[in-house]
Amino acid sequence: MEFLKQLSEMPGVPGREERVRELILSRTIDLWDDTRTDALGDLICHIKPGTITGKKPALKVLIACHIDEIGFYVRAIDDKGRLRLQNVGGFDARNLFARRVMVQGRRDVLGVLNPPGRPIHMANEEEKKKIPEVGDFFVDLFLPKKEVDKLVQVGDPVTLVQPFEEIGEVVNGKCLDNRVASWVAINAIRKVGKKSRYDIYYAATVQEEVGCRGAGPTAFGVEPDIAIAVDTTLACDTPGIDPVDAITQLGKGVAIKVMDGGSISDRGLVDDFVALAKKKKITHQLEILPRGATDAATMQRVRSSYRTITLSVPTRYIHTICESAHKKDLQAAVDLLAAWLGE
Ligand SMILES: [Zn+2]
Repeated sequence: MEFLKQLSEMPGVPGREERVRELILSRTIDLWDDTRTDALGDLICHIKPGTITGKKPALKVLIACHIDEIGFYVRAIDDKGRLRLQNVGGFDARNLFARRVMVQGRRDVLGVLNPPGRPIHMANEEEKKKIPEVGDFFVDLFLPKKEVDKLVQVGDPVTLVQPFEEIGEVVNGKCLDNRVASWVAINAIRKVGKKSRYDIYYAATVQEEVGCRGAGPTAFGVEPDIAIAVDTTLACDTPGIDPVDAITQLGKGVAIKVMDGGSISDRGLVDDFVALAKKKKITHQLEILPRGATDAATMQRVRSSYRTITLSVPTRYIHTICESAHKKDLQAAVDLLAAWLGE
């Protein structure tokens, strides 16, 4: 879990994923035959099949794991030295009160994120009910304006700060969406190594949270026979939500996606993954997500289209800093992907 902790705590807003990319490269460089980074920032790592049996060339598989996280860019610095933000990715403003944040300025600077307005001791009933817009929030660096101007400028990335922890049966932290995917894919590829009958490309894709932007060019470049997105999905198995709307349940295994708001998985692949999970006794569940999308949405539709599927890790409290994924589901995702690559 040490690698997952590092992945979760590393900042990487859409467009500024370089630290995550470097971490992944440094931890996996022994695994690949070759690696490259494209102009957009997608990291594409290739592991050739070992002994090729038969005459046909091995099928190419692209496993896409987005490495960006929802975050902010500094939009303006006011005359008191407080920062105003532009969000990159979908935040629920109700989860942003009184948060510690980190600004990647000339050096990394800590600050506090809060909405404008009066504290509960002073607020009237009307004020207490009001939910601010994300763009209203400000960052207090507790420094004079002159100091702030030396350290921070418009366009610097800002991320929420949260230490990664193991709590009960889950791992808990920020941006498990979608750092868990790289952890899953890399562990699965390590498990199979050169024994796979596939020609495997692992891609750490960028800018998914602002519209699955990195995965399209990645798939265009790799030209896979099959493309697999690994991502998190909602586990709404908590109070206040009808169980039929849970999407997935924590601890009930890796989710094999039938469809979401951006893609419908290749039916043959869905059937293959379900049959394999049954055969290998890997806990799994089927997923239909009414809204939202993964990298599958764009990979499916480049060139003359590719067979595509998403494997999901059920996650509670998604797009908060308390994202929680069950360790058994993470292992099930590794096992299923490794079994498929090894078949
Ligand atoms: Zn995601």
